[in-house]
Amino acid sequence: MASFDFDFFVIGGGSGGVRAARMAAQRGARVALAEMLGTDGLGGTCVNVGCIPKKLYSYAANYGESFHESAGFGWEGEAPALNWSTLKTNREKEISRLNGVYSNLLHGSGVTMLDGFARLEGEHAITLATRLADGSSGHQQFTAKNILIATGGTPFVPHFQGREHVITSNEIFDLEPFPKRLLVVGGGYISCEFTSIFNGLGSKVTQLYRGGQVLRGFDEEIRHFVAQEMVKSGVDQRLNAGVISLQKTDDGLRVECEDGSIVMADAVLYATGRVPNVADLGLETLGVAQGAQGEVIVNDRYQTNVPHIYAVGDVTSRVQLTPVALGEAMAVVDQLFGPAAGKAPRDMSYEFIPTAVFTHPNIGTVGFSEEKARDEFGAITVFRSEFRALKHTLSGSSERTLMKLIVDTASDQVIGLHMVGPDAGEIVQGFAVAMKAGATKALFDSTIGIHPTAAEEFVTMREATRS
Ligand SMILES: Cc1cc2nc3c(=O)[nH]c(=O)nc-3n(C[C@H](O)[C@H](O)[C@H](O)COP(=O)(O)OP(=O)(O)OC[C@H]3O[C@@H](n4cnc5c(N)ncnc54)[C@H](O)[C@@H]3O)c2cc1C
Repeated sequence: MASFDFDFFVIGGGSGGVRAARMAAQRGARVALAEMLGTDGLGGTCVNVGCIPKKLYSYAANYGESFHESAGFGWEGEAPALNWSTLKTNREKEISRLNGVYSNLLHGSGVTMLDGFARLEGEHAITLATRLADGSSGHQQFTAKNILIATGGTPFVPHFQGREHVITSNEIFDLEPFPKRLLVVGGGYISCEFTSIFNGLGSKVTQLYRGGQVLRGFDEEIRHFVAQEMVKSGVDQRLNAGVISLQKTDDGLRVECEDGSIVMADAVLYATGRVPNVADLGLETLGVAQGAQGEVIVNDRYQTNVPHIYAVGDVTSRVQLTPVALGEAMAVVDQLFGPAAGKAPRDMSYEFIPTAVFTHPNIGTVGFSEEKARDEFGAITVFRSEFRALKHTLSGSSERTLMKLIVDTASDQVIGLHMVGPDAGEIVQGFAVAMKAGATKALFDSTIGIHPTAAEEFVTMREATRS
């Protein structure tokens, strides 16, 4: 029988990779994890330049609004001003702490940590390129019985004149100085979140999107509603609009748009999608099947077409969310090394994955959009409630909340639940459990609300809006 250096070699120390390595080691496997630690600490996109720092900045942005709104509740005095350096420093401290937590968890589980860029050389062979203390690079060879590709994704910026002056979500957190004028290009959730965040932090934000409405793929009414709220809060949102070229001038970046207009900005953030991190990974040489964007193609057991090589998370371009990468990682580990003691093997379910968009106000959503539900189920019933939250009766804010239920008329099952409003992500998580359990509208109706909350609307919508 062939002997290998490791039972399991994980490439990438992000959400999926760390979880897979730790769980496999806890099951007694000999595990190595390769990550380029010189670039970012452990934890990948989510911890270093994604979910966590973004949410911290979103909280920061909320304060601006809260100071302003507090006057209606009797608070007086000058509103504090943002110290951008303090926010950046405190974020960095928290992220370093999390990097340390991940490192301790891996070491504590007995995972061998390898610092460098890993490349596949064979179905059981990996080369690790490391940077040595004198600046030169060295190479180490390893063998492993099974290999997991968990290399994530990276921002994609199209080619155009002036591209070298733009930044991506990787750079925005440490931008210096604070951008008084920010141009955000893109219409996906990352673009919308940064638009809202920087608008809340005090930048004058212009958002440019090629399409007719932001947040493609979300429920149509939700897309329009949140776009309207973003505009109400001061965002200059331009749809069906694109960039032709960008020039650096003494007064900042001069952006020429397709309609001939000029936008002047201190920084231009491109959030125009992400591509899988597959460059120089050795996939082509090994014949690992890839999709049009380079994504690694896997079957429902996360196996590539090359035996013993698996892939999870963003590099497979399926559902690009941290909890999904974690779920996939745990499913692979259970398959290869057996489930945790006393537990059934984990199976990753892609049904009713809840998600939030941290725009201001937030979106929380789970299940089918009205449009997809109509296509899939035919007869549906839509329940909808739109209102001004109780808080805003005194705050003076004109922000509105929208909540929506989509019901399969034949079975009465709630198949879509959507919200735009404060804490939508927090509210929708609990309802996702009910929906996975197959909750019907009758069950929602028989649930007692918590008063006074916005969430209670989901169990008190009696009159159908349309079918
Ligand atoms: C701005 C932003 C906000 C986001 N917000 C959310 C959110 O609110 N909620 C949510 O659920 N998801 C969010 N996401 C998505 C989430 O971050 C990803 O889905 C998740 O990180 C994917 O995990 P992963 O393990 O597949 O890859 P990653 O976390 O990207 O990790 C991949 C790791 O592999 C390493 N690597 C790559 N190639 C090699 C190599 N050859 N050798 C060694 N190491 C390598 C990289 O350095 C990286 O650390 C956000 C993403 C972004 C960009």
